[in-house]
Amino acid sequence: MILSEKTNGYLPEQCAYAKRVQALLTERGVVSPKAHIVTFGCQQNVSDSERIKGMLLLCGYSLTEEITEADFILFNTCAVRGHAEDRVYGNVGATKKLKQANPNLMVSVCGCMAQQQSVASKFYKSYPYVDIVFGTQQYHRLPEFIYRRITGKRVYELTLDNADIVEDIPISRDGDLKGWLPIMYGCNNFCTYCIVPYVRGRERSRDPQEIIAEATKMINDGFKEIMLLGQNVNSYGKGESHGINFEKLLRMINDIPGDFRIRFMTSHPKDCTEELLDAIRDCKKVERHIHLPFQSGSSRILKQMNRHYDREGYLKLISAARERIPDVEFTSDIIVGFPGETYEDFCETLSLVKEVKFTSLFTFIYSPREGTPAATMPDPISREEKGKWFSELLVTQDEISKELNSSLIGKKMRVLCEEETADGLFTGKGEYYSSVTFEGNHDMIGKFVTVRVEKYENNTLYGTVIN
Ligand code: SF4
Repeated sequence: MILSEKTNGYLPEQCAYAKRVQALLTERGVVSPKAHIVTFGCQQNVSDSERIKGMLLLCGYSLTEEITEADFILFNTCAVRGHAEDRVYGNVGATKKLKQANPNLMVSVCGCMAQQQSVASKFYKSYPYVDIVFGTQQYHRLPEFIYRRITGKRVYELTLDNADIVEDIPISRDGDLKGWLPIMYGCNNFCTYCIVPYVRGRERSRDPQEIIAEATKMINDGFKEIMLLGQNVNSYGKGESHGINFEKLLRMINDIPGDFRIRFMTSHPKDCTEELLDAIRDCKKVERHIHLPFQSGSSRILKQMNRHYDREGYLKLISAARERIPDVEFTSDIIVGFPGETYEDFCETLSLVKEVKFTSLFTFIYSPREGTPAATMPDPISREEKGKWFSELLVTQDEISKELNSSLIGKKMRVLCEEETADGLFTGKGEYYSSVTFEGNHDMIGKFVTVRVEKYENNTLYGTVIN
């Protein structure tokens, strides 16, 4: 679905390029050109890919799930972990053969990994069949890049100038029930392990009126859940003259008429204020769930990570949230085995996990990222030892998840029925983080139903629809 072909700023120029691309493809006999997009990494990348797909539709491509039938293949990459990077090199390498079979095929790489000069140079020198490489702040120029490649040399565009956000890029959304809505880009925090501030640039917030217009359109188009996206949504609006911060933005979106709900990620504990917690409490369309990464339970390690809060501060924040919103659910991210972390430090992480009782955790063993301060810190603990700590954390969290899920038995939840499961049941998320599975029918898909939780079995909550 195309959201908008309205243009401003850069886009009249880009629309003109898109028309020229269409004409050139026709001239060269590329009939019904198809594009295949592979997205790695976080929701921000998934959201960027929806805009990339929109621009490709504007250029006359249709989308295909089959890489072998594509005339344009794009890899939207992630730089957060080494493993994902290795997969990208493997995937891009496999396109060499496809290019031999289809001389009109163009291959493109973008996203956080491509933004790194060393990676872009590697693609330039060692992957001559990669036609277009572009960085995280240039993706709105894709029609121009395709045009330039069809008419000339390979294109490499990595400018990271923190320029104004380009609005009105066409969007081809992946779904029609739950949608991504980016509210800001980049990050100013420079956590010592993280590559994001280097590859996505400084924080830039979208204009609140643009966000409200996009949210309103999504709701009018039938979306029932809006996920507000940003590397650090809590610092939305900082440094902008409009005076709208994240708390005010939440209230504004909550006021849009319609039956829908609002989620957001990711929050940084240092910017999670009491006013924001009040807004979450007051806004009935905002889910009772906060994803609040703490990364380590050791204040010593948090300082090394440059996180700007300590263990006590984090726990105080959790208490403040629970005082205001007694049934709020928390999820979090944890890094195990940060350079210099000892088993004693790790035990502090374990004890914090037990104290807070998170509904779910996203856990990672530390992966060094070239160019970040942590990559140069002494890291004497072996991968094998870190793996043991990691397993201990998983076992602990597993017990907590079972306990929390079992405590939901008997509770009523307002569930957005999302899909049918393989065994003919239906499933969706409640107003918290947890999903529940129940007997239903196809008419329920896309609607809110009230479900009473009956049991917890095989890591799944089962319930009965009561209206
Ligand atoms: S807050 Fe820290 S971890 Fe999150 S994107 Fe910014 S630098 Fe990375």
